[in-house]
Amino acid sequence: MNDSAKPLLPGSTLGVLGGGQLGRMFVHQAQAMGYFTAVLDADPTSPAGLVSHHHIQTGYEDPQGLAELARVADAVTTEFENVPAAALAALAARLPVSPAASAVSVAQDRAREKAHFVACGVPCAPYAVIETAEQLAAVAPDLLPGILKTARMGYDGKGQVRVKTAAELAAAWASVGKVPCVLEKMLPLALECSVIVARGHDGATVHLPVQRNLHRDGILAVTEVFEQNLPPALIQQAVAAAISIANGLHYVGVLCVEFFVLQDGGLVVNEIAPRPHNSGHYSQNACDVSQFELQVRTLARLPLTQPRQHSPAVMLNLLGDLWFAHGDAEQTPPWAQVLALPGAHLHLYGKREAKRGRKMGHLNVTGPTPEAARATALQAAALLGIAPF
Ligand code: ATP
Ligand code: MG
Repeated sequence: MNDSAKPLLPGSTLGVLGGGQLGRMFVHQAQAMGYFTAVLDADPTSPAGLVSHHHIQTGYEDPQGLAELARVADAVTTEFENVPAAALAALAARLPVSPAASAVSVAQDRAREKAHFVACGVPCAPYAVIETAEQLAAVAPDLLPGILKTARMGYDGKGQVRVKTAAELAAAWASVGKVPCVLEKMLPLALECSVIVARGHDGATVHLPVQRNLHRDGILAVTEVFEQNLPPALIQQAVAAAISIANGLHYVGVLCVEFFVLQDGGLVVNEIAPRPHNSGHYSQNACDVSQFELQVRTLARLPLTQPRQHSPAVMLNLLGDLWFAHGDAEQTPPWAQVLALPGAHLHLYGKREAKRGRKMGHLNVTGPTPEAARATALQAAALLGIAPF
């Protein structure tokens, strides 16, 4: 075994580019397993920076910050999608980095992402790339009504405009500054689901169970995972598609693949995230291996074992809105009442300021049966001011 294939054992230092909540949960997991951690994020109060052994407070492209990260860490991963691919590439010249810049850059660009799905033989929504006025004029009418999405930098429904007519499409493209976009046909969705895949340096893959997701206002609101929540044939299809997408990227790390299930039962891939994902958070309390442990294992080149879900689970996202449930005056959500519910597991990200639409934390609810988990989650939602689902 050459050095670059040897596992990095506990006691080594694992680095992460980005200091958000995903980085924080990665850091917590790495530390639980005996690793030291290093976070690079300019914000002195970033959720991950606050809990890491090392916190390098520079921008992602700062050469000194990157050099410092390469010096203290033995391997580096990333926790957000829009990390500059150049920063990953610069780090990769000095130490192991996963996922690789080449894979992350595909996920960063909706046009390249969709081309990859097509190349893997996995269907996605019919779409057109719009980078020029000519391409705008040439859009096929049957792509409307559709959703115009900026090719880069979108998240939580940002950078998206729903359009019904060619005139609305032209206005929408102007409103986003005529940056490169994709127009996607609006599909009749029955439901949404996602799969977390982990792929090791040796190409071995494991995955979490398929998650059923409910979005509200373009933001994930609820994830439910238990048996019989989705048809078995659909589950098989989604897992196979997710693995082939990861294999096609020669991916190393944790990858989330989001899908739409159409009203006619068809499955189409929506997008990928080159990191753990909000829809995989239930795994922290409902599975014997969480998505963050999978991230530690792939980065440290440790063996991957197939995770097993031991409890039916419902995850509720805790957005900043809950801090303003009764108008503009800020309030503390009723945590003690929520935590009186059996199987309620609170995760807060340590963000100082609550804002509407900002992800502040999540609540994982586990139960002995799907019915019990759902009933408890609905009680928690009622206490918190989250609409029933
Ligand atoms: P995130 O990164 O938070 O997952 P995003 O900003 O990348 O979100 P998308 O996943 O592209 O956005 O879309 C957000 C939501 O909008 C989807 O989960 C789905 O509910 C809806 N949506 C997006 N594209 C389509 C489509 N082609 N047809 C129908 N609904 C869609
Ligand atoms: Mg999405």
